Amino acid sequence: GSVIGILGAGQLGRMTALAAANLGYRVHVFAPESMDSSCGQVVAYHTQAGWHDLRALARFADDVDVITLEWENVPTYAVEFLARHVHVHPGANVLAVAQDRLAEKSFANKLGIGTAPFRGVRNPAELALAMAEIGTAAILKSTRMGYDGKGQIRLNPGDELSGAFDAIGSDDAILEGFVDFELEISVVTARKADGTLASFPPVQNSHKAGILDTTRVPAAITPAVATEAVRIAETLATALQVVGLLAVEMFVTRDGRVLVNEMAPRPHNSGHWSIDFAETSQFEQLIRAICNLPLGSTGIMRPCVMTNLIGHDVDQWQALLGEPGSRLHLYGKGEARSGRKMGHVTRPV
Ligand code: ATP
Ligand code: MG
Ligand code: MG
Repeated sequence: GSVIGILGAGQLGRMTALAAANLGYRVHVFAPESMDSSCGQVVAYHTQAGWHDLRALARFADDVDVITLEWENVPTYAVEFLARHVHVHPGANVLAVAQDRLAEKSFANKLGIGTAPFRGVRNPAELALAMAEIGTAAILKSTRMGYDGKGQIRLNPGDELSGAFDAIGSDDAILEGFVDFELEISVVTARKADGTLASFPPVQNSHKAGILDTTRVPAAITPAVATEAVRIAETLATALQVVGLLAVEMFVTRDGRVLVNEMAPRPHNSGHWSIDFAETSQFEQLIRAICNLPLGSTGIMRPCVMTNLIGHDVDQWQALLGEPGSRLHLYGKGEARSGRKMGHVTRPV
């Protein structure tokens, strides 16, 4: 029995641990969160130490055979330290790109993959210049650490810009032109160390208050757009030499172009449908990829819609269990605070 190490202890780690257990692996978790975290509840062993605790990291590395992660913002020094002892998939090189919106978009552009126009901005003068150069409505985002639409503000030409950096809580920022997209899609690609790839079909995402609300499977796009979206995700995964998963969020413009929004080298919320309605779940695919096992087939068993249960949405859980065919997942988090992802439900359509 090999032991898989997971960095991070949220619901993505929990679902990864469940998939690992299903293939006969044991799981150890390293995370600053408490044993009562979503993932800590389902694994036998949980190191509750900070990323700076090199002794604890070394003990963790000694106890596991391979390490993966459920959070792309693990400090790269911690991953580099662990990688001296044991394979960490994906590696620090992937995190360095995925942690930084400027690096991420530049990386895509260098491969000939389109993004929204963007500029790095660090002060109001640079922001004013970037607004003028981009010349349309735009979004100012913190370069690092943002999620669920946090650390972002929409700006229109002529807006007063003085409070913008305070509003996003950072002066290390990126200004992106606002994309008037037709729809948003994502692709989860798995890649093994030998370069083998397997991608799930593109799915269609809609957001509410900056948080993913529903994922529709498959996306309502033409075969040409679907092929292009998969090509983009696989090109990025190959260029980054990802071992594990790469989730790529994309915009489809009204004239049928596919632009990259952002990427995450881990299981993705828009891939949760795969647990119940794909031939292989994204979590099992991650375990297969990092353990050098054959990748699973990625076909859709049945079209479906995944809906996140945010905050008090979860109070409906018993009614959801009563719906024929719907598949409910609860993350074991205590308090249903507003904006908190408490679970999800996937329904056949
Ligand atoms: P996540 O929770 O997916 O990590 P995040 O906080 O990293 O989200 P983004 O994915 O960059 O943020 O943006 C959140 C949402 O805001 C996008 O899914 C999209 O709906 C909208 N958005 C972001 N950037 C743009 C843009 N340049 N043009 C139009 N809409 C955008
Ligand atoms: Mg993000
Ligand atoms: Mg996003």
